[in-house]
Amino acid sequence: MFFENSFWAKGGSKGPYVIMILMLPREVYIKRRIVLGLMAAFLLLSLIFGVRLTTNKIQTWQKHSALTEISGYLKAGQVLFDSLLERGVSREAANELVAVVAKVLDLTKLKVNDNYTIYIDTQGEIQKFIYSKSAIDQYFVIRDEQGNLSAFVPAIYPERREIVKEFTIKSSLFGAMKEPGEEDALVFLFVDIFAWDIDFFTYPRVGDKIKIYFEKYYHNGEFVEYGRILAAEYDGREKFQAVYFEPDGKRGAYYHLDGSPAAKMFLKSPLKFTGRITSLFGSRVDPITSQHGTHRGVDFASYYGAPIVATAGGVVERAGWGGAYGNLIILRHANGYSTSYGHCSKLLARRGQRISQGEIIAKVGSTGHSTGPHCHYEVRLNSVASNPLRFKQPTVNPLKGKELAAFKRLSQEVWPKLGKIS
Ligand SMILES: [Zn+2]
Repeated sequence: MFFENSFWAKGGSKGPYVIMILMLPREVYIKRRIVLGLMAAFLLLSLIFGVRLTTNKIQTWQKHSALTEISGYLKAGQVLFDSLLERGVSREAANELVAVVAKVLDLTKLKVNDNYTIYIDTQGEIQKFIYSKSAIDQYFVIRDEQGNLSAFVPAIYPERREIVKEFTIKSSLFGAMKEPGEEDALVFLFVDIFAWDIDFFTYPRVGDKIKIYFEKYYHNGEFVEYGRILAAEYDGREKFQAVYFEPDGKRGAYYHLDGSPAAKMFLKSPLKFTGRITSLFGSRVDPITSQHGTHRGVDFASYYGAPIVATAGGVVERAGWGGAYGNLIILRHANGYSTSYGHCSKLLARRGQRISQGEIIAKVGSTGHSTGPHCHYEVRLNSVASNPLRFKQPTVNPLKGKELAAFKRLSQEVWPKLGKIS
């Protein structure tokens, strides 16, 4: 009904206009005809153009609103191709997609729980694909108007914020940092700074204080990841302090305020967090034979299978059965030092193998002369056993001259920020 009315209204309005033209002189009439012709042409063009624009808009809108979103994530040991098939993508489509995304994404470096979203049109064709390692590490694939898929990495610039926080240990290190809303990743970053000074499983006491000046990255107002810890302090029975510094042309590292590196030749413990000292170095009563003797190492008790790491870089001198020591690994280090790790359930290094500091070399067990899962850890200098918790270890590469001066300037600027808790 509406259409009919408007049609007649239009037609009706034309009548008096035509009559008016007929009454005009001939020249004016021709001019009017040209003008009218141009107007008509313009109207026609704009009508066609307008309709086309609208049609395109509608088609695009329909295309996008009709896209079906399918989300997926990588399971342990799963490759992207299999994950796509599992989400209902055809072999052919999965092949095409994987080949294109591989141009910007290293498919051998995908991680469990990486997630992705596939956008499929009504014909079942993939129009868009987003692979997301994190909110700022993403890989896009889109289908262009010619029907070809192309991949690109969108430029995302996360916002960097500098934050200072203080934590007090009430029960555990993890608990202290997680309560005010920080994540485990920050604890790991912190522990790595002082791994040469502090055995974090045995040293912390209730009431110890931690101060950290660190970077956090945000995208669209949401926390994405931690950057670097710029300065940190552990205040317990002793104070440990460190500032991050990059000497000219060298890799950055943490240094104590006097310019000595936080990194030392030996880590404090062969077990990262999970250890409890059950037997100290020195004379003791043997738990099995009940005889008095000397314990030449320290026993770190932990759960069966806990990873044991090399406390210093070196070469595997021995890896095998060590009698009372059970499965044993002995590492030879520079300057006449050696370390040994006994009672292991599993050995993960071979004789002659070069090992770096912190590398996992074995798993905790209770083999040999042992009453429960633990790692018997020894440090020897020229074959003489020393107390792993007390021995004075050599300092490596302290800052000197210009580097030391540059570090002092930086730490004078950075250190006071730790006092300004946000
Ligand atoms: Zn022992």
